Amino acid sequence: MLYYSTYKKAPLATLEKAVIKGLAEDKGLYMPERINPLPKEFYDNIEKLSFQEIACKVAEAFFGEDIDAESLRQIVYDTLQFDCPVEKVTDSIYTLELFHGPTLAFKDVGARFMARLLQYFLKKEGQLDKEHEVNVLVATSGDTGSAVANGFLGVDGIHVYVLYPKGKVSPIQECQFTTLGRNITAIEVDGVFDDCQALVKAAFMDEELNRRMKLTSANSINVARFLPQAFYYFNAYARMKEKGLADQLVICVPSGNFGNICSALFGKRMGLPVKRFIAANNANDIFYQYLQTGVYTPQASVQTIANAMDVGAPSNFARIHELYNGSHADICADISGAAYSDDMIRETMKSCYMETGYILDPHGACGYRALQESLHDGEAGVFCETAHPAKFKETVDSILASDIDIPARLQAFMGGEKQAVPMTKDFNDFKEFLLNR
Ligand SMILES: *Cc1c(COP(=O)(O)O)cnc(C)c1O
Repeated sequence: MLYYSTYKKAPLATLEKAVIKGLAEDKGLYMPERINPLPKEFYDNIEKLSFQEIACKVAEAFFGEDIDAESLRQIVYDTLQFDCPVEKVTDSIYTLELFHGPTLAFKDVGARFMARLLQYFLKKEGQLDKEHEVNVLVATSGDTGSAVANGFLGVDGIHVYVLYPKGKVSPIQECQFTTLGRNITAIEVDGVFDDCQALVKAAFMDEELNRRMKLTSANSINVARFLPQAFYYFNAYARMKEKGLADQLVICVPSGNFGNICSALFGKRMGLPVKRFIAANNANDIFYQYLQTGVYTPQASVQTIANAMDVGAPSNFARIHELYNGSHADICADISGAAYSDDMIRETMKSCYMETGYILDPHGACGYRALQESLHDGEAGVFCETAHPAKFKETVDSILASDIDIPARLQAFMGGEKQAVPMTKDFNDFKEFLLNR
């Protein structure tokens, strides 16, 4: 399978190149040349398969031409050493809990898959030594950094630089990527998430830097990170089908950079029978505005209590646009939008807790509310609980007047010592730092 750039001005790339380079030469995002549909028998019997078995089938459709079956199976099983269960919240609303991985957020799936795939290619080329070291640059508004850092921790031949906005990630999130050491370096940028993302993008475009070191991205622009996220949407369908609730399934994805929902849309293209999708935003409502007006206008991001969705220029918009051949009407036919202020998020967390006992995190709350407001008779909805509420303990406790438990695997991060390199948002400073490593 070859991959083309959304800008169509770069040469086609192999999977190996797309994974190692992250972004195409023309700054576009890689797209698979074909999206292989899965056969009807797969969907007819999907409820009989486990999450891992389903994931193997989906992985084969994406990557089967480029990786031998046994290695791919190994990568999938190694990645998915935890479940992504579907739990009931109300009669018609279910949650797809994506927080059972090591850093308690959905990004564990893509990050772990990408680390293993990258290692597979480096090993194949005999390039696991210092001389061929690959430098992964990742900008984070919170959860990407922890998932990528932990996904790659201790992986030979790879060094990870996590760029995060100073003072704008929760203390627990910060611990998850600043205390690891080894092949992980945290960089604390005096700016907002978009500044971090701009630094990473500028690094990929800098000729001198690329001549002197191998750089790649682990943001959701990397195909190895965003495509595997499709696995759990197929699982959600299977588990809802088991319950007899899959006939008119609505899937709602709390969205920031739009990598997660984009992988769900790829699933639909592979035949996954989802009736419609909802992209739930916080106050950063660029996509919501696009759906209303047909005009895509990136904005500076604003800070909210659902901080992993504080994105003013969602990278994967380009992929969604490309997937639908730029047709606003076709995009609107599959996806609707919603956007919520912090007050509305708080109100939703409170009412859901009081009415159902389910503790939402601020991101999941956007998804839950969008389903509550838009489900029609006969439809069943699944929203992604994209992170465990304990990752936002201060916020959640102050809203619910609760004292929620911190899971042991999250607690474990909090004993370590913070190590971070302070950085300005000036690219020259960042470049200097990388060159002098
Ligand atoms: C990253 C993240 C999101 C947004 O996902 P995208 O793929 O960027 O749209 C939502 N919720 C949480 C908790 C996240 O970490």
